[in-house]
Amino acid sequence: MRSKLPQNKLSIFAVMSKMAAQYNAINLSQGFPDFNTDPELIRLVTQAMQNGANQYAPLAGYLPLRENIAAMVQELRGATYDPEHEICITVGASEALYVAITAFVHRDDEVIVLKPAYDTYEPTIALQGGIPVPVQLDAPYTTVDWDAVAAAITPKTRMLVLNNPHNPSGMVLKDTDLKRLEELVKDTDILILSDEVYEHIVFDEKQHRSVASYPGLKERALVTASFGKTFHTTGWKMGYCLAPKALMAEFNKVHQNTVFCVHHPTQVALAEYLNEPEHYLNLGSFYQRKRDVFLNAIQGSRFRFTSSEGTYFQMLDYTGISDLNDVAFAEYLTKEKGLASIPVSVFNKEQRDDHLLRFCFAKEEDTLLKAAAILNAI
Ligand code: PMP
Ligand code: GLN
Repeated sequence: MRSKLPQNKLSIFAVMSKMAAQYNAINLSQGFPDFNTDPELIRLVTQAMQNGANQYAPLAGYLPLRENIAAMVQELRGATYDPEHEICITVGASEALYVAITAFVHRDDEVIVLKPAYDTYEPTIALQGGIPVPVQLDAPYTTVDWDAVAAAITPKTRMLVLNNPHNPSGMVLKDTDLKRLEELVKDTDILILSDEVYEHIVFDEKQHRSVASYPGLKERALVTASFGKTFHTTGWKMGYCLAPKALMAEFNKVHQNTVFCVHHPTQVALAEYLNEPEHYLNLGSFYQRKRDVFLNAIQGSRFRFTSSEGTYFQMLDYTGISDLNDVAFAEYLTKEKGLASIPVSVFNKEQRDDHLLRFCFAKEEDTLLKAAAILNAI
């Protein structure tokens, strides 16, 4: 048997969540809330099932949901997407990422990936015979070195993967970043795959800047989003992709041959739920409170940090606390101290170790305070 992904290891999210369960540790590793979604949303899904939305949905998704997404994106990003031809509902952002890469990356195409990077981009590029071109950012990952990105562009560059707000660092791109990127790709045929799953989770008066708001980027962009992050339903695996018509036509060919369509009753419920903008507009302040509870509680600890600007992740630097590499230190914290996190090196180019761990603060305050007590005692 010849493996198509010979280098691929079991995802760190599976490794750490399993270890957390095995050692009965507080699990701040894999990113998911430890609280339930809004009962109203659950009621809407149940109602949709009772009303008979139990057969296949249309290929690109339930049209009223696509219409409501278009209205939301128009309102928030000032960008127009035709619900009929430019939006597709997917099995989480994960399917959207997989389909976007599969539809456009040919053998030997180069795809620029900013590191540290979420773990599915590069294996998917490799599955298509593409060549991931990692551009390493520097800790504490508060800016992108666009000169390094420019230097990585070659005539074979087919796509650039952007993730904003950024997992694992919590970095939020600025207007100047997006403008620089717009400048860099002008007069090229480079596509942008913009993973914006944490778009509603931005802190401290900062603003999420979508590539959809920049005409020179929108025309070449596939934007991915996730209802899992926005409505505390990571287990539902519901997301979507936005793209101009010609790109979406190719995207849909692969979506059609991957899953064809997505869980129907949930789409009906989400369409209804999106009618209330406060269901997503308050998410930033909701998570900012949790970030602040966590960071205030570890203020006196020996860990160093730069406050996360967005996402529900916070990186902590343990330099001076231990000489263990981050994978070993994360394992030690889980097994010996009862607190699971994610070692950031697994997302870096050549697993560069900056002594950083990522903690998910999408948790009840009580969970965050218990975790903080463990960190304070180290
Ligand atoms: N992209 C990033 C950056 C993520 O953190 C996640 C995490 N779940 C995903 C994509 C996948 O989203 P989904 O769960 O909707 O498939
Ligand atoms: N996105 C989540 C995280 O970064 C995990 C998703 C997964 O388990 N694959 O923690």
